[in-house]
Amino acid sequence: MRPYNFSAGPAMLPVEVLEQVREELIDWNRSGASVMEVSHRGAEFMRLAAQAEQDVRELLGVGADYEVLFMQGGASAQFALVPLNLTAPGSRVDYIDSGYWSKKAIAEARRYLDVRIAAATDGTRVPAQDEIDLDRRASYVHYTPNETIGGVEFPYVPATGSVPLVADFSSSILSRPLDVSRFALIYAGAQKNLGPAGLTLVIVKKALLGRARPETPSVFDYRRIAEERSLLNTPPTFAWYVAARVLQWLKKHGGLEAMAQRNEAKAGALYAALDASALFKSHVAPASRSCMNVVFSTGSAEIDAAFIEAAAAQGLMHLKGHRAVGGMRASLYNAMPLEGVHALVEFMREFERVRA
Ligand code: PMP
Repeated sequence: MRPYNFSAGPAMLPVEVLEQVREELIDWNRSGASVMEVSHRGAEFMRLAAQAEQDVRELLGVGADYEVLFMQGGASAQFALVPLNLTAPGSRVDYIDSGYWSKKAIAEARRYLDVRIAAATDGTRVPAQDEIDLDRRASYVHYTPNETIGGVEFPYVPATGSVPLVADFSSSILSRPLDVSRFALIYAGAQKNLGPAGLTLVIVKKALLGRARPETPSVFDYRRIAEERSLLNTPPTFAWYVAARVLQWLKKHGGLEAMAQRNEAKAGALYAALDASALFKSHVAPASRSCMNVVFSTGSAEIDAAFIEAAAAQGLMHLKGHRAVGGMRASLYNAMPLEGVHALVEFMREFERVRA
């Protein structure tokens, strides 16, 4: 059996998809070549790309008034590309600061915009709706629905009135159904719930296209990318192909409703174990607990390190927390089976029992 991989990203992929990729690696679609070895402009690849877009639209219920783009540069590139594509220099925007990744987005946006912080927390919880102080004249509001490092997740979509809402869904995209119509723009690096690193998903309202600043690189201009069906230049074809297989896997396994149920069962089991433990603790406010990234610790760096090492020896891999917060982090993306969480919970109990 493969070990359980709790990595925060790049993260575990469904083994069914990996097996299919292996199967098709040398001879893709009876073309006599690997998908890596053929033109992105060939009929076969264009078909795959169109199907992937269709599957994103179907899974998330994306309306015809949105473009679905497959880009490069990761979510970090979007920190700059959102300002460059949507705003004129000096525009005022609101950002919600809920931790590490929102701070990164804010720092990058400040290079291009007049950024105001609409709400900020200490990173152990997300702000409540009534703590968010919005500027009606802001060009957009940006937030991070799931903070991968802090392990906090918004249990609601902020209401922003007529101000467009922009969200970095890198670590929770496709983990549950989403009302896309609430958003002006959604972006997500692929390497957690969608596929290998190298691909970035952007879902943007068509009405917002065509505003890019003149200095925006053409390959990062949303409108140009939309016009070229995300094939403006050579895309990361292999990553795109694997993502396409993951999307098919999601559809085959019940879509996002089924993922939401599984993900809640997984996170629920782990948080219940943390609440029942005298050794392991979560410092995240219960209402802000992330379903994808469960952050916890024993309060002792030494015991944490011993736990991480002992867990790895049992095939429970990559539980080390991010260096910014220490402790442990178990990432429970779609590909993690419930059995993986049960194995972790059982091991935590055993570790605690032996130490007591
Ligand atoms: N935002 C969030 C919420 C993330 O989790 C990450 C990656 N861990 C990033 C942004 C940065 O993504 P990338 O490495 O794709 O630029």
